[in-house]
Amino acid sequence: MSVLLGCIADDFTGATDIASVLKREGMRVLQINGNPAEQGVVPQNVDAVVIALKSRTQPVNSAVSDSLAACNWLLEQGVLQVFFKYCSTFDSTKEGNIGPVIDALLTRLKTDQTIVCPSYPINGRTLYASNLFVHGVPLAESAMKDHPLTPMTDSNLIRLLEGQTKHFIKPISWQQVQSGVTALAKEFESLKTGIYVVDALVDEDLVTIAHAAKDMTLLTGGAALAQGLPSLYRKLKWMKAQPETDGLKFSQGHTLILAGSCSTATRSQIEYFLASYSGIAIDAIALSHGGEELQRLESFIQNNAGADPILVYASDAPENIAKVQAELGVEVAGKLVEDCMAQLAIKSVSEYGVNNIIVAGGETSGAVVSALGTPALVIGDEIEPGVPWTFLEGEKNIALALKSGNFGSQAFFVNAFDMTCKGGVK
Ligand code: ADP
Repeated sequence: MSVLLGCIADDFTGATDIASVLKREGMRVLQINGNPAEQGVVPQNVDAVVIALKSRTQPVNSAVSDSLAACNWLLEQGVLQVFFKYCSTFDSTKEGNIGPVIDALLTRLKTDQTIVCPSYPINGRTLYASNLFVHGVPLAESAMKDHPLTPMTDSNLIRLLEGQTKHFIKPISWQQVQSGVTALAKEFESLKTGIYVVDALVDEDLVTIAHAAKDMTLLTGGAALAQGLPSLYRKLKWMKAQPETDGLKFSQGHTLILAGSCSTATRSQIEYFLASYSGIAIDAIALSHGGEELQRLESFIQNNAGADPILVYASDAPENIAKVQAELGVEVAGKLVEDCMAQLAIKSVSEYGVNNIIVAGGETSGAVVSALGTPALVIGDEIEPGVPWTFLEGEKNIALALKSGNFGSQAFFVNAFDMTCKGGVK
């Protein structure tokens, strides 16, 4: 059976988010980082492939060409639907990448009908009268108005899209969504062509929308819209009623946590972890003096990796980070720490019997993933909302949990470790 659904996500953590949603609903999911044609990955025994691009803040032309390359590859895999995943706060640059990417995908897929639905109720993102709200606050009045890369100064998606697409745009009200799958599908059918901005306030609305849009080859939205697809595919008999097992299992091996994020959430997770387990702090200044600091950290891992998880962290209070940055420069300091994390990951896997690595920090995760040469990750069970365990594609059974800084409860590291002790992931 070929892949049913192909998702194109405009950033890495967004890709993991939608992959996690699909996995939760019973799909077998593979995440590929970057242009899949260049990675040489052959998807096997998966229902969905999610391609993680970095197209959110790219120049429009690159965002379009990367998205088209991903779409072409997905079509070669035989996907029946393509899902363009963007942020639930509809982040797009001033020039607007979302509209041009939708236009290009519509042309490539030889269709002229799709929906736009970034709503993510569980995270407080709702769409009403085509206006996007963040925990009840209009998008343009939320913290997103000051975002350094994609400031959102209009909450109305119709107006935002008008400047970005050449297609006809049509609002679909929440009342129309309430009329149910059959009526909504009829509405889509009667409209024939256009981009429909569909209101959604709760998860049930998203399931209704996904089912009503069953004839569309292109869907666009936030990760939450994808939650309706597995049940639709089962109804259409594209997938078996019972989820297939993907045989993912943690290997016998040690667990290492690498924390490079200095966010409040990560720092409290470190504190919580260190109350029960051991860890070592990275001295960034010492790292700049040569190889001894790296050796000290490696020895710690070598001597302590075992039944209990261990932690290596660079995370520190803002005033201490500021001192390091003043001495070394912001970029140099960040790169030193990231390179150190990458080295530790490689050595731990190849020499110290570590099989499970939990990484805290977006940039830090990127450094570790590239160091491990990971073109693709098979998605495992969720540890906490939006953060699943993932498994390196290929013969090595290495598990990675990649957490962006602010995600997760205080017990996140312990919760992630506990899952490895239970052994299998279904
Ligand atoms: P987040 O997801 O919280 O933004 P990231 O990993 O993306 O976390 O970013 C944290 C950055 O801070 C990384 O570049 C990391 O190398 C850097 N960093 C972490 N600890 C220190 C430190 N002690 N001194 C200087 N830079 C640090």
